[in-house]
Amino acid sequence: MNLGKLCKYASKCSVYQNNNSELNKPVFLIRNVFCNRGSKGWYNCLRFLKYEEGKEVREEMTPYG
Ligand code: SF4
Repeated sequence: MNLGKLCKYASKCSVYQNNNSELNKPVFLIRNVFCNRGSKGWYNCLRFLKYEEGKEVREEMTPYG
């Protein structure tokens, strides 16, 4: 894996850590679409945008809402 493309919030993110019960797709797909894809993926992730704003990110929130 190219670490430069991994989201910087992965270690604390419930989605990347496969700890999010609201995901409606397998976690490996979500990771490929958002987390491991560099800025193209990250900026489509609502969790990433909230982290970037310094806001609270609820555990159960998904990348798509
Ligand atoms: S779900 Fe979003 S915030 Fe979480 S690791 Fe993936 S891209 Fe980053």
